[in-house]
Amino acid sequence: MQRIAIIGTGYVGLVTAVGFAELGNNVIGVEKDKEKLDLLKKGFPPFYEPRLEELLKKNFENGRIKFSDSVKEGVEKSDIIFICVGTPPLEDGSADLSQISVVSKEIAEHLNGWKLIVEKSTVPVMTSQWIKRTIKLYSKKEENFEIASNPEFLREGSALKDFFHPDRIVIGVESDRAKDILLNLYKDFDCPIVVTDINTAEIIKHASNSFLAMKISFINMISDLCEKTGADIEKVAYGVGLDKRIGIQFLKAGLGYGGSCFPKDVRAFFKIGEIHGLHFGLLKETHKINEQRIERLMEKVKSALWLPKGKVIGILGVAFKPNTDDVREAPSLKVIETLRREGAILKIHDPKAIPNVKKIIEEDKNLKYVNSPYEACEGAEALIIVTEWDEYRGLDLKKVKELMKTPIIIDGRNIFNPEEVTSLGFEYYCMGRGNYLKRKD
Ligand code: NAD
Repeated sequence: MQRIAIIGTGYVGLVTAVGFAELGNNVIGVEKDKEKLDLLKKGFPPFYEPRLEELLKKNFENGRIKFSDSVKEGVEKSDIIFICVGTPPLEDGSADLSQISVVSKEIAEHLNGWKLIVEKSTVPVMTSQWIKRTIKLYSKKEENFEIASNPEFLREGSALKDFFHPDRIVIGVESDRAKDILLNLYKDFDCPIVVTDINTAEIIKHASNSFLAMKISFINMISDLCEKTGADIEKVAYGVGLDKRIGIQFLKAGLGYGGSCFPKDVRAFFKIGEIHGLHFGLLKETHKINEQRIERLMEKVKSALWLPKGKVIGILGVAFKPNTDDVREAPSLKVIETLRREGAILKIHDPKAIPNVKKIIEEDKNLKYVNSPYEACEGAEALIIVTEWDEYRGLDLKKVKELMKTPIIIDGRNIFNPEEVTSLGFEYYCMGRGNYLKRKD
């Protein structure tokens, strides 16, 4: 059993805190956001993630996890301190490390005995050196700590499953002492553990996310070619992905990647290259292709509806991907903004993310959030699939058609079978499946 502090209990921190508590450790989560902390102190998670509520409740009630707003308390009552605060993008794309810097200073001020300080947030290579320097500068007890890196690879929507069953664990350390502590912490995990120096561990994280984003942009580039030539991107991706060297995952054409990680990490990694005199043009192109996905969707909207102005459009999905309520950098935000600018009347549904999107885009006479996907279809002149929730795959399409004013589906995630949808009498627009893009003129 270890005494662990988790500083920053957002998507990564809270899942990590609950995961370590479930494994029998004593965990204290430190959170400065009062609204989140109030919920956590009552044993409720401030965001949706499958199984999180149940496991948090269990460990909260058995006393293995508690929450505080005090870094001092977290540091003093633990031996291992995980930094899990945000590293959002600055205007120029580089990572804003101000939260890391603030936390480093606070940790320094409260060190009371030897601690292992682990950066879990995604940070540019060599950030650990800055954390170390900051702690040394602000701490009265020199050399009474060590730094390690343990980047996080969980995916929102399956975060707890990923915590307990990761593909690999990466540990960046500077000593055997730190290595042994972290290997012991992860001793029950059935996956390869990669032990490296800290710079290598930091690069592994950015390189992994950039590669995955690149895969998505690559298939979206091919998707555009499929549209021009009447080919089918779903079959191309399958045929390509069966090659074990390539792999089938992350070859899904559509509206591109979103969320709080890929967009920011691709841009941050590009900047990191620049800082070191390297031009990561591949990443610039990855980002550019991703940005163009919304234009591709809008071309379809205009092809289907001519002018969106005054037309009722149902939007299914605002979360950046299924099984999460996170809307940070979600493609839906750009879709909604663009359609609003064009004067469309929007009826928007999402199973989990409406409370979060409401904080960014308020309701008005031309924009309503609705409680069921069928409500979004009522009187709609087109239906746009933005997030591929399973709930939407199982829609009763006959009912959808009856409810709609004009049966047009624009499927940004290719969730429907084109033959089935068109045989029901829909006009069906999808991504990269060339034969299903033509209007029934
Ligand atoms: P988040 O914004 O959800 O959580 C960060 C939390 O830290 C917030 O709740 C914030 O209030 C808190 N915080 C900030 N400063 C604090 C302080 N001084 N004291 C206490 N709490 C403080 O972010 P996230 O999505 O959990 O991401 C955290 C890091 O993990 C980022 O670097 C991100 O890139 C990385 N990461 C995220 C994911 C993901 O899927 N979200 C996956 C892997 C890695």
